[in-house]
Amino acid sequence: MEAETKRSYSEKDQDYLWHGMKPYQANGTPLIAESGKGSWFTDTAGKRYFDGVSGLWCLNLGHGQEEIIEAAANQMKSLAYFPLSFGHKPAIDLAEKLSELLGGGYRSFFANGGSDANETAFKIARQHHKQSGNPEKTKIISRYRAYHGNSLGALAATAQANRKIKYDVNVPGFVHIPPPYAYRSSFGSYEEDDLRAAEYLEQTILWEGAETVAAFIMEPIISGGGVIHPQSDIYYKKVREICTRYNVLLILDEVVSGFGRTGKVFGYMHGDGFFPDIITLAKGLTAGYLPLGATCVHESIYQSFKTNGTTNHFRHISTYGGHPASCAVALKTIEIIERDQLVNRVARLEQTILRKLHALTSYSFVGDVRGIGFLYGIELVKDKQTKEPLSDETIKTIVAACQKKGLIIGKNGDTVPSGGNVLIIAPPLTSTEDDLTFLVKTLNEVFSETDKEAS
Ligand code: PLP
Repeated sequence: MEAETKRSYSEKDQDYLWHGMKPYQANGTPLIAESGKGSWFTDTAGKRYFDGVSGLWCLNLGHGQEEIIEAAANQMKSLAYFPLSFGHKPAIDLAEKLSELLGGGYRSFFANGGSDANETAFKIARQHHKQSGNPEKTKIISRYRAYHGNSLGALAATAQANRKIKYDVNVPGFVHIPPPYAYRSSFGSYEEDDLRAAEYLEQTILWEGAETVAAFIMEPIISGGGVIHPQSDIYYKKVREICTRYNVLLILDEVVSGFGRTGKVFGYMHGDGFFPDIITLAKGLTAGYLPLGATCVHESIYQSFKTNGTTNHFRHISTYGGHPASCAVALKTIEIIERDQLVNRVARLEQTILRKLHALTSYSFVGDVRGIGFLYGIELVKDKQTKEPLSDETIKTIVAACQKKGLIIGKNGDTVPSGGNVLIIAPPLTSTEDDLTFLVKTLNEVFSETDKEAS
């Protein structure tokens, strides 16, 4: 026992902990965090880092939010746990608040996180059609490059081959289409990319048979897949029209883009009239303080679950989904976002940061800089003409060099064939202007060293 306590956490980590992703470590040693304050955390060796990805795009209010911590503790003191086959006050209050934020008329089913919220959405979509006289409407359409979660259904909706290849056969009934992606348009036209991508949805619904398609799921802005978004709201407008025309439910995965990340309360609000039939939430919902997901469903869909008889009942339960402490934390998180006007703050700072990040295109290997709110992607290429992705090795070196200088950034995972050539930046919404200056300065230092080494 004594010998065990003398071993460093790095050593013990290597023996016992199973990491979820390939870690890009600066010296080959794992980064082990010990404490955090605001947008910064400190590792077990006492080194400080600016968290340029908010954990996994969830720690939107940074560390040390005392009011959130108190809300969790108070809730645990008064009611530690209660299942949502019954009810409790924080879940009811949160469901009411979410409906208000969504403009009214939404009902929430609570889950543990994003994957779970998406699974719930797929089941609701299929069951809704079954009990509305359209039993064959079961297929779910999703977009290449998107990530929707790790469980088998959410993974089937995820369209990143490397994440799925080892788990064949994937859950059937999922179909993928390309997203609008002007920088690498699947349709050969920068100007018409949005429109063509939306038309492709319609084409796919018709090819599959509209009578077989239950839902289309999309993130308003593809986040983990490389920060990919349309150029204008024509895409959103067309997608909404098409889904309505073919009675295909529009599921918006706002697990990352919700709660101010994109400079609006929800990412879908960037589209005029782009309302969801179902919206899935997690991550920023609790600012990463506790696990929680939500599947918010428009009343028009809920109607088909309401009528008499047991067959219409939604046979789905989650032990921890809607945990009282998580709901209390979510309510406090939303209160802070509203009180401190964080959504406006993000929208206000967006252009300043984007302008500084755009300047990075002067480096020989920066092909594209894009983003919205506090969510940015920097696409790295070997050659700006051919757009051939920069080698995975160089990208790992860049990420590790940033880490060495105390900056954590992400990169998109698992893109075939490049392995992922988009750096992802998503700082906490509460990051100070000094924090953001440090972010841009460090990127400049690392990029300039990389350029020198390449020449
Ligand atoms: N949807 C999106 C867009 C995500 O980025 C993620 C996770 O990164 C998920 C769903 C899955 O969420 P969770 O990891 O909470 O299951």
